[in-house]
Amino acid sequence: MRIDVVSIFPEYLAPLELSLIGKARQDGLLDLRVHDLRDFTTDRHRTVDDTPYGGGAGMVMKPEPWAQALTAVAAEGSGDAAGAGDSGDARKPVLIVPSPAGERFTQATAHQLAEEEQLVFACGRYEGIDERVLEWAADHFTVRPMSLGDYVLNGGEVAVLAMVEAIGRLLPGVVGNPESLVEESHSDGLLEYPVYTKPSSWRDRDVPAVLLSGNHGKIAQWRRHEQYRRTAERRPDLLAEFDAGKLPRADRTAFADLGYDVVDGRLKRRPDA
Ligand code: SAM
Repeated sequence: MRIDVVSIFPEYLAPLELSLIGKARQDGLLDLRVHDLRDFTTDRHRTVDDTPYGGGAGMVMKPEPWAQALTAVAAEGSGDAAGAGDSGDARKPVLIVPSPAGERFTQATAHQLAEEEQLVFACGRYEGIDERVLEWAADHFTVRPMSLGDYVLNGGEVAVLAMVEAIGRLLPGVVGNPESLVEESHSDGLLEYPVYTKPSSWRDRDVPAVLLSGNHGKIAQWRRHEQYRRTAERRPDLLAEFDAGKLPRADRTAFADLGYDVVDGRLKRRPDA
């Protein structure tokens, strides 16, 4: 996969040289390049922002440096931005524009984006990027404004660090044991069960006995039920989306103990629970 990140603070992306993502780059699994937006300006001061039309606080990122930068990085990559408009959507790279006003980035989004050939991230700063850049870019890219969550950061760089790590670790060969990607939080719409390591007794706290039993069926069931308990406690919103139609009886009982009944394949919280 090829990833391009455009930012006025390229050094902010340095952590992408470390750990698993850094190793994936070294191993040639991920071709990740960071570009300075100011290299695509033409004035002496390398200006990237200006005052907002209509007034108001803050500055807005000017459109032309973005158009220059995005055209250059897309042409360099596997996509052909210049010709993509004529040749159909299949060849368009995906342009991700981090924004608190974007669609929510989730594990499902990460899986979807991990299938792409080229991703381009446009890191906004100040009050964001002139809206016409997104309109123009739609002719050359699949444009996806994307939010990390319902809060406001100073710039897109931190969001890109998170998104690139979430996407990059799904690429084949990046995580040593691919099984570890299967049982994670959000992989099946639930939070992960609690995990423990040695020693089995630590500061008067014992590891749950079932995990020491060697009974793999019982361990798997305990873990599933812990996922239900944890998700019900911490993220009940996830349970509304959970497909409960095929749950075995023991799992329905576990949910009943947590105050949930299965109705038409969905979990419904009992009003008295
Ligand atoms: N005025 C914008 C608004 O209210 O929607 C916020 C601009 S914010 C100060 C500057 C930049 O930070 C945004 O252009 C975006 O790149 C990034 N950003 C802020 N919050 C974000 C979030 N929750 N998810 C992704 N990117 C975010």
